[in-house]
Amino acid sequence: MLDHAIPEDLVTVEGLTMHFPIHAGVFRRRVGAVRAVDGVSFSIARGETLGLVGESGCGKSTVGRALLRLCEPTAGRVVIDGEDVTTLDAARLRAKRPAMQMVFQDPQASLNPRMTLKQIIAEPLNVHTGWDTDRKLARVRELMEAVGLDRRFVNRFPHEFSGGQRQRVGIARALALNPKFVVCDEPIAALDVSIQAQIVNLLEDLQERSGLTYLFISHDLSMVRHIADRVAVMYLGRIAELSPREALFARPLHPYAEALLSAVPRADPSRAAGRRRIVLKGDVPSAARMPPGCNFSTRCPRAFDRCRTEIPRLAEVEPGRQVACHLFDPTKPAAG
Ligand code: SF4
Repeated sequence: MLDHAIPEDLVTVEGLTMHFPIHAGVFRRRVGAVRAVDGVSFSIARGETLGLVGESGCGKSTVGRALLRLCEPTAGRVVIDGEDVTTLDAARLRAKRPAMQMVFQDPQASLNPRMTLKQIIAEPLNVHTGWDTDRKLARVRELMEAVGLDRRFVNRFPHEFSGGQRQRVGIARALALNPKFVVCDEPIAALDVSIQAQIVNLLEDLQERSGLTYLFISHDLSMVRHIADRVAVMYLGRIAELSPREALFARPLHPYAEALLSAVPRADPSRAAGRRRIVLKGDVPSAARMPPGCNFSTRCPRAFDRCRTEIPRLAEVEPGRQVACHLFDPTKPAAG
């Protein structure tokens, strides 16, 4: 568990757990659970971008949704700007919504094709403000300008725009109520490579202008390296390593982080020369049948006896770097 939030932390997550029950048989008895998220803890400082990376199915999107209570966590606390959102009743959660928003992966799927840009972007204003039509239209135009959309397009429909422009609409909608915290869930994954950087640059500009705090969920490590201040690497529902960006990319500590990052192309070929690509053997185990002990023990090239029986705890092993691996436990030798 993390230390309690220091005042500059906007988001503190402690022991976040999301298990989906598995039922079987005629009486639909509960026979197990998919452990999508299994005791995740981290914090995000105000104005910071925390990258959350991992292979698909590792639980990173579920973390994002649980943080905003778009799904109900099984256990754990999520404190956003001093308030535990996991305990809020429906009315207080609704009042909290403006402060925490989400940018979704697929702008095509997340925008109603029958609504104009004006209607889409004004939707949160209709729900959360009592503003009149003129004030809402002025805000919509302001937001369109902020995200680089021509304000004359206000009465057009989503299908009239490119994927990148539609994602700008999604961002404008997310920012309509001046949120403090935005979860960006694979915001560029559905876009052409040529426009991915534009959207990331836009998110950075908006952060600078409005002091936004981001959780940036992505499987694209190069993009995370560009935008994140710190990065949490997830494997099978747990955080394997959480480190400042530069330290992680220069010298990943956790064996899984090391393997994941070994596949990232390096811009500087002289530094790439000495680096070895680590190819992991075996498949990712099912989240319904987690191995006992370390969840990475079935694939880890450095696993030893203790790894198969004891779950490693996420602990600070260097200033600012947290790792969940027995190799870094100073209290017991790795040879077990
Ligand atoms: Fe590998 Fe063991 Fe560390 Fe898990 S705890 S990552 S199995 S060395």
